[in-house]
Amino acid sequence: MFTTRGVRKLTNRPVHRSLYRRWRPQRFSEVIGQEETIQTLRNAVSASEISHAYLFAGERGIGKTTIARILARAVNCLDPAGGEPCNSCANCTAISNQRSLDVMEIDGASNRGIDHIRQLREGVNFAPADLRYKVYIIDEVHMLTNEAFNALLKTLEEPPPQVLFIFATTAPYKLPATIVSRCQAFDFKKIPPAKIEMRIKDICQQEGIAIEDAAVALLSRKADGALRDPLVMLEQATAFTQEGPIIVQDLLEMLGAVGPEFVASFFNALIKGDHQQVLLQIADLVERGKEIELFLGDLISFVRDMIVRDGEETEKVNLTVAQRIELCQGLLLLKQDLMRSIDQRILVEVGVLGIMNELGLFTRGSDAITDLPTKGASESQNDEQRSQPNTPPLLPTPNEDGADKATPVRIAADDSFAKQWETIFKMIEQERISIAAFLSEGEPRLDKNRLQIAFDRKYSFHKESLERRENLQYLVGMVRRYLGSEIDVDIRFADGAIRRPSPTEDLQKKAELVCQVFAGKIVKEE
Ligand SMILES: [Zn+2]
Repeated sequence: MFTTRGVRKLTNRPVHRSLYRRWRPQRFSEVIGQEETIQTLRNAVSASEISHAYLFAGERGIGKTTIARILARAVNCLDPAGGEPCNSCANCTAISNQRSLDVMEIDGASNRGIDHIRQLREGVNFAPADLRYKVYIIDEVHMLTNEAFNALLKTLEEPPPQVLFIFATTAPYKLPATIVSRCQAFDFKKIPPAKIEMRIKDICQQEGIAIEDAAVALLSRKADGALRDPLVMLEQATAFTQEGPIIVQDLLEMLGAVGPEFVASFFNALIKGDHQQVLLQIADLVERGKEIELFLGDLISFVRDMIVRDGEETEKVNLTVAQRIELCQGLLLLKQDLMRSIDQRILVEVGVLGIMNELGLFTRGSDAITDLPTKGASESQNDEQRSQPNTPPLLPTPNEDGADKATPVRIAADDSFAKQWETIFKMIEQERISIAAFLSEGEPRLDKNRLQIAFDRKYSFHKESLERRENLQYLVGMVRRYLGSEIDVDIRFADGAIRRPSPTEDLQKKAELVCQVFAGKIVKEE
C-alpha cells in the first residue's frame, strides 16, 4: 500500500529560465511530433510560397506557438537553409531577442475587442519596418469578439503583401467559417508517449538530472500528448528531490496521485461488489487530499489496459469483455461529470456504486468472485437471484415484464398523480439509483399526456445528466410503463425558482440514501 513520505526540503538549485523555455526548439528539425505540418511549412519557406494566413489548431502544450515563432524567423531569415532559419543573421536575432517591431505576438484572450483589431488593421497597411514580412501571431484566436472577427475578416479578404498571420487555437470549432476558409489550416496532433519519453530522457541527460526510467515513463503517461506539462513537472521534481534520482513516488506525491497498488485494490473491491471497501478507499483519497480526477484517470487506464490485454488476464479478472467496456464507459462519463460537480466526493460515491449496480456486481457477494449469469439467461437463475433487481432494458414495455424483474403494478387510473409518481420514483430508486438521485431535484407535473419535470437552474447538472440518451430512454420507458404508452416526457428548467434545501445538505442526504439502499441489498443477500 502506498505510504506518504515527508516532503523534503527544497534545494537551492539556481533556475534562471524554466526548463521548458530553455529546451524550446529553435529549429523545425528540433520539434518533437507534428512531422507533416513541419514538412509542409519547410517546403513553403524553401519555395517562397508563403500563405498570408495559417491556422494552427490543437491542444495546449503541443508546439503551436513554438512552430509559429520558428516560422516567423524562417520567412524573414537572410540565410535560410532547407526551410530552416539560421538563427544567427540580423533578422533572426532581432526576432529572437524581441527587438523587431515587425513580429507581434497577441494574446487573443486578453486583446479580444474590436479596438485592438482596429489598431492591428491600421498597422497592417504599413510596410515592414526592418524585416521582409510583418508577422502577427494571434494566440487563442477563438477568444476574439464577433466585431473583432469581422474587422479581421476584412483584412484577410484583401491581405496586404508582406503580411503573415499565424492564428493558434485550442478550440477551432469556435472560429467563424469565414475566417477558417481564408487560412491554410493545420491540425496539431498529440505527441506519442514514446517520443515524449525519449525527449525527457534526452533533456535529463544533457541537464545532468538523475531520474528513474519508471519515473520518466510516468511523466510521459501523464503528459497527455503535450510536452510542456511533463517538463514543468520534471522541473518541480528536481526541486522536490534533494538527493538521489527522481523516483516514481516523488512524482506521485507532487501530483496528488495514488500508486498503482491503490488503484488495483480499488478495482478488486469494485468487481467483488465490496461497496464498503470502495467507500472506504474514496474516503481515504479525500482525507489524504488526493486528486479524485487523477485517480479516476488512473482507474480508467487500468481497465482500458485490461481490455487491450484481453486473453492474458481472463483467469485473474472475472469480467466479460462487454462488462469491462461498460465499466470503462461508465468511468469516463463519471470523470466528465466530475468537472462540473460541486461535491466531487459524493458524485464519485454515487457514480461508482451506480456503475457496480448496473454491472450487476452486487450479486457477487463480498468475498468470492463467481461468474455472473448473463443477461437474458434468467431461466437458469435460482429464486434468490431472481429477487435481485436486474439491469433493465433501455426501453421497457408492458409486455416485457418477465418474472425475472420486480413485477410492476399498473397504477390505478384514479390514483392521484403524486401517488403515482411516488411509486415510479421508488421503482427507479431500486433499479437505477443514479437516475433517481438526478430526478429527486426535479418537480414533476402531469399535464394531459405530457409529464413535465422542471429543474431549478442551479440543478442544471441533474437536468443534463437526465437528458443523456441512455438515462432519458430508461426514464421514458419507466414513465410509459406506469402511466401509459401515450405519455411524453419533457425535461426543462422551471420558470420560477423552486424552493429547495441547500445543495450540500441535499447531497449529504442523497449519499446516505445511496449507502442505505446498497447496504440493504447486500444484507438481504446474506
Ligand atoms: Zn537567419
